[in-house]
Amino acid sequence: MKQKFSIAIHGGAGTILREKITKKTDKDYREGLHQSITAGIDILKAGGSALDACTAAVIVMEDSELFNAGKGSVFTNEGTNEMDASIMDGKSKECGAISCVKTVRNPILLAKLIMEKSNHVHLSGEGAEKFAEMHGLAFEDKDYFFTKRRWFQLQTVLAREKEIQETVTILDHDGDDGKHGTVGCVALDNDGNLAAATSSGGMTNKKFNRVGDTPVIGAGNYADNDSCAVSATGHGEYVMRLLTAYDVSAMMLYKNMSLKDSSANAIDKLSKLGGSGGIIAIDKNGTITMPMNTPGMYRASCTNTETEPNVKIFADE
Ligand code: ASP
Repeated sequence: MKQKFSIAIHGGAGTILREKITKKTDKDYREGLHQSITAGIDILKAGGSALDACTAAVIVMEDSELFNAGKGSVFTNEGTNEMDASIMDGKSKECGAISCVKTVRNPILLAKLIMEKSNHVHLSGEGAEKFAEMHGLAFEDKDYFFTKRRWFQLQTVLAREKEIQETVTILDHDGDDGKHGTVGCVALDNDGNLAAATSSGGMTNKKFNRVGDTPVIGAGNYADNDSCAVSATGHGEYVMRLLTAYDVSAMMLYKNMSLKDSSANAIDKLSKLGGSGGIIAIDKNGTITMPMNTPGMYRASCTNTETEPNVKIFADE
């Protein structure tokens, strides 16, 4: 019997401009997205859970240099990597989250482990790494997370910061795509269960153990079988103030709004507050929406009625 499913992924939203992207980069990203969503689709087609599909899709992007999560994570001001991630099961409302983890290969697996094997929701820093070690998760040394492209992005931001330091407040985020990104997946499985998973290296040049929206349940990630599953990307400080992912669910539950309207409304609120970003969202009927207020968002979607995933980058595609 054909399994009923629906799945969407994102690899970050931002100032992604056609004129600035080479053919090769365009192709590489589309291939990376295709590979990620296929990992999720394979699980759903075989009757697997939305939770496992989301985890598998996110792992592919964490293992790729292209995306700001896992291996491709951006650098902090001190030239280190600090990763955030969270996962949520729409059926049980169980969830797990981590922040400021430095050398765990796949942060999403640690978030899942916390959800399944601890009595907590969110572990951070060294404690989270200790928990990962206790459960035999894979670690990598710092060199694994070093990518020339991200290092160059940090140097560019530092140089710009030095130039403007005397005249204006230092910008922690200027909407430049090179500085941020996140990866995420939302899925509906054949049993009608929803899940969401999100993982991020945060923002280039972040300081003071800054934590973004990604590991904040309800901000960057949320799933509820009665409404929807949502994963966000964009300027985390705004997404956290608005609790964007939960907001989409709340509008559906309390105002009886459709997934599309509540998602569009959540992005409007983000714009009004001055934040940039996008979300991927899926409801219990398998409807998918992926609104953004940025020129682009790396993204892909697929349902059991389609033979191939739809992979997109630019907002007007
Ligand atoms: N939301 C991430 C953060 O603020 C970054 C991004 O998705 O662009 O950490």
